[in-house]
Order: sequence, then structure tokens, then C-alpha cells
Amino acid sequence: METRELVIIGGGPAGLAAAIYGARAALNPLVLERGVPGGQAATTEWIENYPGFEDGIGGFELMVHMQRQAEKFGAEFKNADVTGIKKENGVFILNTSTGEIAAKTVIIATGAEPKELGVPGEREFRGRGVSYCATCDGNFFRGKTVAVVGGGDSALEEAIYLTKLVEKVYLIHRRDGFRAAKVIQERAKANPKIEFVLNTVVEEIAGERKVEKVIVKNVQTGEKSEIPVDGVFIYVGLKPNTAFLEGFLELENGYIKTDENMATAIPGLFAAGDVRLKDLRQVVTAVADGAQAAVSAEKYLEGNK
Ligand code: NAP
Repeated sequence: METRELVIIGGGPAGLAAAIYGARAALNPLVLERGVPGGQAATTEWIENYPGFEDGIGGFELMVHMQRQAEKFGAEFKNADVTGIKKENGVFILNTSTGEIAAKTVIIATGAEPKELGVPGEREFRGRGVSYCATCDGNFFRGKTVAVVGGGDSALEEAIYLTKLVEKVYLIHRRDGFRAAKVIQERAKANPKIEFVLNTVVEEIAGERKVEKVIVKNVQTGEKSEIPVDGVFIYVGLKPNTAFLEGFLELENGYIKTDENMATAIPGLFAAGDVRLKDLRQVVTAVADGAQAAVSAEKYLEGNK
């Protein structure tokens, strides 16, 4: 089995930036991606805070450019799901859906995926009214009424995006304070198509063959009520994609701890982007992590020559 200098797991912004820097450092990086490159950013309709685009840029378009840039410098891409990892005689062995891959250094950039709300009806109606991606599914709800659940950047931004398609959005949040950036909160509050349903939790998503309503409870009064909707978009946070690391690397709430150079507790193993324990999860911080991780991998390889 050939041993690669650098394998990057995950093709989101962190993985792609690592691929660009790794390729330019002549490490001939291999990027393993289980789906389509671009990660969560590629499913974001519009990105307004990535420097360099004063009018914003589509998430998908931005990620296509990053991938092309990585390919231009010689990064290789392979469709594979990594299911396990071990280190033997100083070399990492990755178990993947397409067989074993050996590498001297590995950058984990597997990101995070949407958390489930965990209420009855959620799984049953997934794809039949329940969605975690407004960009992907919003079009199915043209002229209809939907609920968005959550109070972070994603919930408010995607609620605003949905108002371009749907007739009405109920923004259901369990508190009356929001995590979302102030500028996004103000924009959502000024949008006449968004009705805020605060201090309220969703108890059930119900319908016959597809979503017809959400059953909600006001947490202050205990009062239950029903809101008729055609769809429910759930944005209640993220869950890191680290299941394949269980037993290999110590995790904190599922996230990977690194130092400021993206090094994990295991020499030669680095992490970058949303999968890392950190404060700010943005495309701009993911690409910065990716660049640093690749440079750290390069230095590690230099030191082990
Ligand atoms: P988030 O910031 O973690 O917010 C999750 C929201 O869901 C919170 O309002 C939380 O309520 C609520 N929530 C969590 N569990 C819940 C439950 N079981 N039932 C009901 N509500 C629940 O998640 P996110 O909005 O997906 O964002 C993830 C990260 O990406 C963040 O770091 C965010 O800043 C970043 N992001 C940035 C942008 C941007 O800059 N444009 C866009 C999208 C995402 P509480 O507030 O009460 O805990």
C-alpha cells in the first residue's frame, strides 16, 4: 500500500483550504469526501461575511471555486467514507468505504452536521416536509407556510431566505433571546413575512402523509397549541462528524481539541474547521484553520525526514 504524505478527510472549506496549501507545499494531498465537496457552506444560499465579496457570494459557487483552485495546484479528490483510523509504526491507516489508505499526516476536516430536534414526527416526515436545508428544499414550499425552528445564525438567515419563496414563516424559538448576529436579528424582525413564536418548543410534527402542523408548547405558560404548516426547517445547532475517531482520539462533546497550530494530541494528526473545539464557526475561520493545518503537517513531515 502506498503511503501518502498528506490525507485530508473532508472537502468543506477547511479541507479545501488545507488542500490548496498542501498542494502548493508539494505534499500531493488526497482529499477524501463522502458526499459532494463543499460541505455545509455549499448548501448555504448566500454568504455575506466572507471577505472579498462586498455583495456576498453563493455558498455553492464559492466552494466550486475553492475546489477548482485546489485541483489546479494538484490536489487529488476521492469519494470515500472514512469509518476508522489507527496509527501503526508512525503511519496512519484509514479504514474507508473504498479500502485502506495509509498516510504520514492526516488533517481531519469532517465538519459538523445538523442536529435533530428529537421530536415525534421528525424522522417520519423527513423529506416529506421536514428539512435541514432551506437552499436544497425551499423551492418545494413556494407560496406555502413553513416553520423554522431555532434562534442561531442559521435559523434566522434561512428564515429570511425562505421568505423569498414562501408566503409565511413562523420562527419558533425556545427563548426570547437569540444567538444570531444582531444584524441578522434586525433583518429578520423587519421582515413582514416572518412571525416570531418565542418561548416556545415544538413538541410534535404531525400530518397524514406529509407535514400538516406543528404542535407547540409555550414554556412560560405551559399552554399547548397547533400551528398549521406545510414544512418545518430545523436549525437547532450542529453535531461534529467524529464518530470514526471514538477510542482513537479524546474528544470534548464530540469536538476535537487542538493547539493553535491545529495539532491534536497525536503527532502527525491535525484538525481544522467546524470539527474543532473553538468559538467561531465560519467559512473564514475554517479556511484559516485549513491553511494552518497544512503548514503544520508540512513542518511535521520536515521534522521527521
Ligand atoms: P447555534 O448557533 O448553535 O444555534 C442553535 C439554536 O438552536 C439556538 O438558538 C438554540 O437555542 C436552539 N436549539 C438548540 N437545541 C434546541 C432544541 N432541542 N430545541 C429547540 N431549540 C434548540 O447553531 P447554528 O445556527 O446552526 O449555527 C452553527 C454555527 O455556525 C454557529 O457558530 C454560527 O455562528 C455559525 N453560522 C454562521 C453564519 C454566518 O455567520 N452567517 C451562518 C450560519 C451559521 P438556545 O439559544 O436557547 O440555546
